[in-house]
Amino acid sequence: MSIIVTILLVCLALFVAANIFLVWASADVGSNVYVKAYCKGQTEQRCVALTFDDGPHAKNTAKVLDVLKRHEVRATFFLVGENVERHPELVARMVGEGHIVANHTLSHDAKFPLWSRIKVEDNIMACSDAIYRAAGRRARLFRPPFGVTVPAIGKAMSALGHNVIGWSIRSYDTMRRSSRKSVAKRVIKRLHPGAIILLHDRCEGAEELLEDIITQGRARGYSFVALDELLNIQVYED
Ligand SMILES: [Zn+2]
Repeated sequence: MSIIVTILLVCLALFVAANIFLVWASADVGSNVYVKAYCKGQTEQRCVALTFDDGPHAKNTAKVLDVLKRHEVRATFFLVGENVERHPELVARMVGEGHIVANHTLSHDAKFPLWSRIKVEDNIMACSDAIYRAAGRRARLFRPPFGVTVPAIGKAMSALGHNVIGWSIRSYDTMRRSSRKSVAKRVIKRLHPGAIILLHDRCEGAEELLEDIITQGRARGYSFVALDELLNIQVYED
């Protein structure tokens, strides 16, 4: 093989490797390349945190809140600003019942990772304003839509002083074909000290899934705490 072919092959291999790295760095919220994200608590104790994305939802969120109340469990809700504007009373209820409300952008736009830093910041701030109007709290926790992180989001986080929250257990509860029992089983099998569990209160049967996770988790010696307790961080501006 001539030296030129060898050099070309090495260059090609480096190009492919660099692209694989860039895709992984953006797609995995826990990659910590562009943004430092909290994906689990540093603890040996069997403490785990429940997090719900994309709400509030007209029908399902109230049922989820009922289950949390019955079991006296505090959770964290990563809210979409436009949904907050539609159902401010549910956000006020969350705060009133001791849950943490957090930021998941105003519009949950599929193109969010492609936006400029200014547009990213504006969208995050608009969600923060909606939460403030509904519940009087300024959220400091942020979860990027789809868990995708890019440099613009990293810069926006530094400018806004927010903490990024990922997860260590993805439930795949949005897969409609999976029964709620099988989703619960998947989560329970993966429980570990300090786990942050990703759920969605907008999903049909979310309350049934939650009930199973809490009862089966507790039967295995796990306690459910909110993110301020698990991560020991400030969750609101004041
Ligand atoms: Zn989401």
